[in-house]
Amino acid sequence: MPDGPDLLLFAGLLIAVTALQFAVLALLLTRRTVRPVLAVLFVATAFATFYMDRYSVFINPEMLQNVLHTDWPEARELLTPELGLHLLLYAGLPLMLLSRVQIRERPMSRALGTRLLAVTAALVLAALVVFPQFRTVSSLVRNHREARHLITPTNYLSSGFRLARSAVAAPAGPREVIAADAHRAAAAAGQRPRLLVLAIGETVRSANFGLSGYARDTTPELRKLDLVTWPRVQACGTSTEVSVPCLFAPVGRRDYDEARIRREQSLLHVLDRVGFKVLWLDNQSGCKGVCDGLPSERIAGDADPLLCDGERCLDAVLLPRLAAAAMEPGDLVVVLHLLGNHGPAYFRRYPEEFRRFTPTCDSSELSACSDAEIVNAYDNAILYTDHVLAAMLAWLQALPDRDAALIYVSDHGESLGENGIYLHGLPYAIAPAVQREVPMLMWLSDGLLESTGVDEDCLKAEAGAAVAHDHFFHSVLGLLDVSTSVHEPSLDLFAGCRRPRATAPPPR
Ligand SMILES: [Zn+2]
Repeated sequence: MPDGPDLLLFAGLLIAVTALQFAVLALLLTRRTVRPVLAVLFVATAFATFYMDRYSVFINPEMLQNVLHTDWPEARELLTPELGLHLLLYAGLPLMLLSRVQIRERPMSRALGTRLLAVTAALVLAALVVFPQFRTVSSLVRNHREARHLITPTNYLSSGFRLARSAVAAPAGPREVIAADAHRAAAAAGQRPRLLVLAIGETVRSANFGLSGYARDTTPELRKLDLVTWPRVQACGTSTEVSVPCLFAPVGRRDYDEARIRREQSLLHVLDRVGFKVLWLDNQSGCKGVCDGLPSERIAGDADPLLCDGERCLDAVLLPRLAAAAMEPGDLVVVLHLLGNHGPAYFRRYPEEFRRFTPTCDSSELSACSDAEIVNAYDNAILYTDHVLAAMLAWLQALPDRDAALIYVSDHGESLGENGIYLHGLPYAIAPAVQREVPMLMWLSDGLLESTGVDEDCLKAEAGAAVAHDHFFHSVLGLLDVSTSVHEPSLDLFAGCRRPRATAPPPR
């Protein structure tokens, strides 16, 4: 609770916002619509305030999009007894009061007069409380524009309106072709078929990743392997809805343009066009348009009796499917969309034998746990990701007849109670580093290093550099020898680390 001058400001804003919302509703609602509209707003607002309070989330169009794309297993994890209590208090009670209000019918002219009087009074009241502190209020509005995402119900109503508008504006037809000039370098004689595995992690932050320098070793198995690691990669967004499409688009965060990303083809369409077999294997909430029209498989919640609970599967469920995909002849790119550290039910993301940091928070109601318990559960989930990736690498290394590579990168980070903030999805400009910084790592088989001319030591020496999700699209094209005018060598992590191809004639 604020104190002193802040309390005055807080009270003033509360009165002003309430008065303004009253004025707007008084202008719009009629005798017949007032009850149903207010009832819907009460319930929706109670839901919104619960998640805003609990997890310090802002409701902007991106957050609302996350909510609308939530599937049933995700939603189930968020339904808790505390939510029930909150709804009873903040929706049930107002609804009861609403049902008792008598609406009197008045002659048209009198009703109009009363209405106008009430609206004027509300506007005057708002002005009276704001003007004495106008400088403070205007600087607050200017410097903390994101604060508007905290005002219910305007935050979710305006976000919904903006989402609906962009959905209407989005073209329904096929996606616009990108990199129309793309082509592959001819394969060298005797070159073995390639397999590139792109593992997209979920909610794994650098701050808790052993290989990124976390004091706890949450990556003991990967540490034993010979990998190139980028400890801190700047994510494109702070949510799956933003980061996943952005990773597979040429524009990245530097020229972020959501409408363009949704309208255009992705990296996978380009790879498919130049002759790679492409497959998206999903243990999460879908490919967000990245794999539109391309082969994809979503793992059902009951796909494996040992690894699934009927709603969700542990990430190891992807391994046999990856192995089956690799039976296909030809060059192959497989995307694995991992469930990773998907919150808030971190404790559901690993089997019992990975419950190594204890005590753990064994509830999706984070407020029922201490921050230390939440971090323990989160870290155990990273231990399990470490194990799944190491198992995948062991399999890839033993693959006899392919030049293979694995690139792992997390989609965004997570807040685990720092400054009272939980989960992710804060507007990028104000999101803490823990939501923006993610680990990335890479393994390339000896055969692939040879056939691509990539110098692994050079990569390792450059891996400390500032790297972002923006590098992903261009690096994959570079590694796979795909040439196009869209490819930006300055964003290709391999570009500075390639020897001339062994097949090129020696210079005279
Ligand atoms: Zn995500």
